[in-house]
Amino acid sequence: MPELDASAPRFDAVIVGAGPNGLAAAIVLGQAGLSTLIVEAQATPGGGARTQELTLPGFFHDVCSTVHPLGVASPFFRNLDLQRHGLSWQFSPLPLVHVLDEQRSVGIERSLTDTARRLGVDGAAYRALFRPYVDEYESLLEMVLGPLHWPSDPVLLGRFGLQALSSLEHLVRRFRSDGTAALLAGMGAHAMQPLDRTATASFALILGLTAHAIGWPIARGGSQAITSALVATHRELGGELLLNRRVAHWSELPPARAYLFDLSPRQLLAVAGSDLPSRYRDRLARFRYGPGVFKMDWALNAPIPWRDPQCARAATIHLSGALPRVAASERAVEAGHVSEQPFVILVQPSLFDSSRAPIGRHTAWAYCHVPHASDFDASDLIEQQIERYAPGFRDCVLSRASKNCADMERYNENYVGGDINSGAATLDQLFTRPVARLDPYTTPNPRFFLCSSSTPPGGGVHGMCGYWAARSALRRVFGKELA
Ligand SMILES: Cc1cc2nc3c(=O)[nH]c(=O)nc-3n(C[C@H](O)[C@H](O)[C@H](O)COP(=O)(O)OP(=O)(O)OC[C@H]3O[C@@H](n4cnc5c(N)ncnc54)[C@H](O)[C@@H]3O)c2cc1C
Repeated sequence: MPELDASAPRFDAVIVGAGPNGLAAAIVLGQAGLSTLIVEAQATPGGGARTQELTLPGFFHDVCSTVHPLGVASPFFRNLDLQRHGLSWQFSPLPLVHVLDEQRSVGIERSLTDTARRLGVDGAAYRALFRPYVDEYESLLEMVLGPLHWPSDPVLLGRFGLQALSSLEHLVRRFRSDGTAALLAGMGAHAMQPLDRTATASFALILGLTAHAIGWPIARGGSQAITSALVATHRELGGELLLNRRVAHWSELPPARAYLFDLSPRQLLAVAGSDLPSRYRDRLARFRYGPGVFKMDWALNAPIPWRDPQCARAATIHLSGALPRVAASERAVEAGHVSEQPFVILVQPSLFDSSRAPIGRHTAWAYCHVPHASDFDASDLIEQQIERYAPGFRDCVLSRASKNCADMERYNENYVGGDINSGAATLDQLFTRPVARLDPYTTPNPRFFLCSSSTPPGGGVHGMCGYWAARSALRRVFGKELA
């Protein structure tokens, strides 16, 4: 490991933060033949893709991300041979089940046709909505998982854009059954915005199309496996990684031609603000963070005893009820409180990956959205919500752990106020985060770049923010153009 002192070797680029985007940026630069150093505050790399024994020995919990539609779909990850470094995607038979009430749930099949068949009266409209995007998903994702740029297929993007920019509530008006609307509402709620907001439909469309085109996999052994594969790739390219080194100011770093920050604007201001002009600093300070999450992890002595056996066929379960309840839950968060029956996102990875827990035992996590920086303890509400649809759940719990917004931020400074996407997914911050700028990865300081999920395309383990930031640094600092 290199030490950070004046005699340290000079690197072409230093990256602060070993989250998926920091690692991705370092890999792109390494692939271009540049020397890189990543400096990470925590004892292990990974940021939002780490796995730890949070409850009991032998129970491996993803501290943050678990389900990776964007990981498997990422144009950048797809070009890396992460499988050679041990990454193996595991798919549950159904990508998602949304629980409607004590009797009913609605699931998404990998097959669009089979899903449409299940949706009955809405089948034709559902198929018509997704078919063009599922058929062209690779080119569509290449166009949307990045900054605004000239599209390779303007017609496809135009069609998608018109629907994606609408509100979720507007998008679902074409459907007649409460099940279809709820299914899309649950996916739209990943925007962490009230569902009548512009562009909330984009989350439902992207998540829905990835469910059909690729599936929603988990990484065998936990999300740490994604990180390990990225770290191995980075090392193979000669890259270096320094752990346990929180960077308070960029001047602590060894000399380099470019610095890429896997940080959110608030940290960028602290770490590099002294060398950025005041106008840009003011704009960064106006960056808006979104609501937080309250997350729980469980070690279980048995699978969750769902009333509806269909729930045991999906790694991801949305618990909340029909659209009005999902919408009320997101509105409540915006209004500063948590509804009595919050929208809960639950993941049960050990059903599909036995390496997560001792034989016969299981792991699960769930979170609900809470107001930004809230200290509300949602444990009871979350467990009641699960118990409602899986009576006897609490009797299965061997141990539990939880994190409120402050814990989240302590764990990873990028999750300001518990915001797991490092920035609100409002229309103006979707493509122009952190500030409106022709190249959002650049800063007015020609050596400083931002590569975190506070840049387009935003949250998720896909590495695309890092990829685009590194491309920008390559062109501007090193005079190299990627094909
Ligand atoms: C509870 C939860 C559930 C999630 N679920 C999913 C999911 O299922 N699927 C999905 O795709 N995404 C999910 N996400 C989101 C995903 O984890 C993030 O969007 C993603 O990790 C962002 O990657 P990043 O590289 O931009 O930043 P991060 O992963 O946040 O990494 C930033 C890194 O920088 C380090 N750092 C910060 N400050 C400093 C400093 N001053 N000096 C040195 N190092 C520093 C941090 O320690 C961290 O390692 C979830 C997130 C959370 C919290």
